[in-house]
Amino acid sequence: MTQPENQPAFRRCGRSGLLLPTISLGLWHNFGAHTLDRAREMAWTALDLGIVHFDLANNYGPPPGSAEETFGTILASGLSAHRDEIIISTKAGYRMGPGPYGDGGSRKYLLSSLDASLRRMRLDYVDIFYHHRPDPATPLEETMAALASAVAQGKALYAGISNYDPGRTLAAAAMLRELGAPLLIHQFRYNLLHREPEKGLLQALEATGAGGIAFSPLAQGLLAGRYNSGIPGDSRAASSTGFLRPEQITEKALAAARTLSAVAAERGETPARLALAWILRRPEVTSALIGASNLEQIRDCAAAMQSAPLSQEELTQLEEAAAG
Ligand code: NDP
Repeated sequence: MTQPENQPAFRRCGRSGLLLPTISLGLWHNFGAHTLDRAREMAWTALDLGIVHFDLANNYGPPPGSAEETFGTILASGLSAHRDEIIISTKAGYRMGPGPYGDGGSRKYLLSSLDASLRRMRLDYVDIFYHHRPDPATPLEETMAALASAVAQGKALYAGISNYDPGRTLAAAAMLRELGAPLLIHQFRYNLLHREPEKGLLQALEATGAGGIAFSPLAQGLLAGRYNSGIPGDSRAASSTGFLRPEQITEKALAAARTLSAVAAERGETPARLALAWILRRPEVTSALIGASNLEQIRDCAAAMQSAPLSQEELTQLEEAAAG
């Protein structure tokens, strides 16, 4: 992988023409209803630090749709002046509306959902439109044709998939190539505690020429050391969303997180930055897609764009920590 000399914070997305920042900001949490002022500050701070990719989905909130509405308001109140300098993605694939057309992978759902996302964000187009998760009940051909239609209509510049296994990824990429809308990117969970993508998916991306973006790179905060000394009252695990339940914070995961924190301290870095540098050691990963609940977390994670690569000794220490 070659990187532009004067833009070390960007990587080429697979074998496409698009560069992405090595750290991207996801709007799954903290951009829903009633958070406008804080959300606006976070978006602008990210942009100022070079995090120019904002990742959304139709169902982000809560309630579903409200993260896109919030982001639309932020765009309308000034951020849209930078539209040509930022990358905005959205997705459809989880339940969004009632009935059979509000979920899944049908052409009917995907294209109507994209139109609704564009309305909420007050945009003419998104840069990347993803199918959010595989739908075995819908022919893959139909789902991929819907993504290709979105591209042909100019409502999305590129097509992406998320949470697809390696075999389905290869099949999807072949179909999209035939349809003239090559697969730009795959979005998957990847962190020191979740190594599944190493068992075939990263290899499939290299084979197809698609880029990769790793979500939950900090294991929802665990690898950032958020829970090393208990569950803070303002943390995701203490919230009522249920996406990170206290019982998921196991002793094994905590032991790995504490070791990572110790290795990070030896390097003079924060645990979050080391966890991100660990993910970015893989050339198949174009970007690590973080979440954040405050400005300080964004600033800290942005610094990972300049982190030095891990030494062999550090890699071994982290491997041992993850193995438990
Ligand atoms: P992370 O693993 O980055 O977790 C984010 C949380 O980690 C924050 O809310 C915060 O926790 C904590 N944190 C972040 N930075 C720091 C720091 N520097 N120091 C200490 N704690 C920190 O990612 P998410 O799980 O939030 O996912 C990121 C994005 O990935 C989403 O917004 C979404 O765009 C995408 N995603 C996609 C999915 C898919 O199916 N395609 C599924 C899930 C996510 P706290 O809130 O407790 O302060």
